[in-house]
Amino acid sequence: MPHILQVALDTPLYRLFDYRLPDGLGVQPGSLVEVPFGRTLQVGVALGEPADSRVEADKLRDVIRILDDRPALSPDILRLAQFCADYYHYPLGAILLATLPPRLRNATPFVAETPWLAVTDAGRLAEPPARATAQRALLDALRTTPQSRETLRAQKQSRHAAALVAAGWATWSRVPPQPASAPQTADAPPATAEQQAALESLLPTLGQFGVHLIHGVTGSGKTELYLRLIDAVLASNKQAVVLIPEIALTPQLEQHFRRRFPGRRFATLHSGLAEAARTENWLAAPDCDVLLGTRLSVFAPLPRLGLIVVDEEHDASFKQQDGLRYSARDVAIARAKQGNVPVVLGSATPSLESYAQALNGRYQLIELKQRAISQAQLPDIELVDLKHIPVDNGLTRPAITALTETLARGEQGLVFLNRRGYAPALYCPSCAWVSPCPRCSARLVLHRTSHRLKCHHCGFETRIPPECPSCGNPDLKALGQGTQRLEETLTALLPAARIRRIDRDTMRPRAWAELGEAVHGGEIDILVGTQMLAKGHDFPNMTLALILDTDGALYSPDFRATERLFAQLMQVAGRAGRPDKPGRVLIQTAFPGHPLFRYLQRHDYPGYARELLAERKQLELPPFTRQVLLRAEATTMDAALAFLKHAAQLAPDDANVSVFGATPAPMARVANLERAQLLIQSAQRQALQAFVRDWRPQLDTIKPRVARWSLDVDPLVF
Ligand code: ADP
Ligand code: ZN
Ligand code: ZN
Repeated sequence: MPHILQVALDTPLYRLFDYRLPDGLGVQPGSLVEVPFGRTLQVGVALGEPADSRVEADKLRDVIRILDDRPALSPDILRLAQFCADYYHYPLGAILLATLPPRLRNATPFVAETPWLAVTDAGRLAEPPARATAQRALLDALRTTPQSRETLRAQKQSRHAAALVAAGWATWSRVPPQPASAPQTADAPPATAEQQAALESLLPTLGQFGVHLIHGVTGSGKTELYLRLIDAVLASNKQAVVLIPEIALTPQLEQHFRRRFPGRRFATLHSGLAEAARTENWLAAPDCDVLLGTRLSVFAPLPRLGLIVVDEEHDASFKQQDGLRYSARDVAIARAKQGNVPVVLGSATPSLESYAQALNGRYQLIELKQRAISQAQLPDIELVDLKHIPVDNGLTRPAITALTETLARGEQGLVFLNRRGYAPALYCPSCAWVSPCPRCSARLVLHRTSHRLKCHHCGFETRIPPECPSCGNPDLKALGQGTQRLEETLTALLPAARIRRIDRDTMRPRAWAELGEAVHGGEIDILVGTQMLAKGHDFPNMTLALILDTDGALYSPDFRATERLFAQLMQVAGRAGRPDKPGRVLIQTAFPGHPLFRYLQRHDYPGYARELLAERKQLELPPFTRQVLLRAEATTMDAALAFLKHAAQLAPDDANVSVFGATPAPMARVANLERAQLLIQSAQRQALQAFVRDWRPQLDTIKPRVARWSLDVDPLVF
């Protein structure tokens, strides 16, 4: 009897594969193996012996080797991947391989790199020659904290690093080492009364599964609360993972954490890391004390896991929008449950999904209503009624006056406009041509600085045409406002002001720290940017926030648009102003009577959440129902719709599950593919899950096939 091994491979097929295990190869479930697959070799995950193999013995192919240069996936990760396979109806093999950093998904032997330069004992005492100034400076830096190879390379310090290593004063190491000498440390401030009360109810629950939702206004000290919980977890020799949104704030947060836990081992994981660093950090995760990272960290190997924190739990970046369309928040809850550890969700504006669970008692609700620094006042929020006040180049007179006054007091202002580029479109006044994307149902955005028209959906770019492509009129106009144009307008209005524009076109990940310094140092008067600015900043002298043109979200067909807008505006409002300087928020809107603003002006998240929840309940929308979206993409809309109609006919009969009609997607064409979707909904999660379990295999049988189809469980974007 040959020893047969079941292997999960990264294929779109919903099945596992059997291989013969040659004598002498030791394997455990989770081991990574190399196997022949078709005419290629693939890396797979060994699962175990199949209950009964359907492959005839003489057709079985051999496992080539066990990849013992890398650790096996642990039983808890195997279990979590199985949960995802069941819940998201996605192939197990594809999920398992996706939990690995890309570098470990191929069989080339992995030679551990040594990405960190740290000072040696000799280096701590050494005195490099005075003329070697660069070496001295680097050694000084190393005495405070190790430096990464990447940073050194970027700063053109590699040569000096090599010299220090040659002298025996520094050494390359594999695991992010601990700061060489005592780093700057920070003590915990005494807890506020609210933080104290929160700790008293949270600390006793740390040893077991439970979901705790911290709803705390911005600045109420949620981060401080996480730190104290983590402290307790580390004290019992367990690990904590902190999931944060996909933004460039990891370095700042990491620094904040390191200061509080000197001598502890940290690891970070996010998509901004270079491949080698990401692999190193993933390999270091099992030995770290605290892992800080974006959504992919939820699958990291953490054998002593004791706590999961999901900060800004409402943030849309926790949901992956392609491949395995998972919600890291929901997977975190599943992982916590499987591992019997607590999970803490935190936000100033929780998702309605989480808030509803807290209101019905399934999650523990912890509220922090006061800012931690006591005198800090919430800002005044004023509306500028666009129905009565004229707009010139996107700005009203009251907005400009507020900005001028703020600058005159020596304070700083923020101007938000959620559209990057110069203008949302280029327009021909004579024939009404409006720069269409040739590949999408979208407009090409005018980027004047790079002299291009760009599609923000498919990446198509072209230079600005000298004349209208449709009628030849040379006098084309910019239509509407983007951040580049706003910057231009503000520069013309306030020529003395130092203005900086921040959006995806101008921001590199490392630029945040530099920006922070420039603002704190008073080198910038006005920041202009998209909403990405709302998240990061914490600038005490920035006392005014102007918000232009949010009206699109107020009457959007997307039922989550108001929830998202409210969260964004609360975030902006929560940031404006500090203890000694009251903040002010000015919102330009043509709909000042919209209920969203009434709650916003009172800083009343619970009130608005209850109103939105009542509306969702009445309309039978999430969180009161569960949804699954079947998407199809094809070269023609007819083909996409035909596929979905066929799929609907194959749907199992279940009175508890509604199958809606197939419709074109809101963005009907992207990158030359027509997109359509079919919504399935049920008030009962179990019923919906069972329905999709029966239905999914049938979708493979539909002819003709479409270019692509996918299931999105709990879709966020339609
Ligand atoms: P949040 O995460 O809720 O926005 P933070 O934890 O960032 O709030 O805290 C906001 C500010 O208040 C920070 O500057 C933080 O250092 C400070 N802070 C938090 N807790 C306390 C406390 N107990 N005493 C004094 N300052 C505090
Ligand atoms: Zn024209
Ligand atoms: Zn496009």
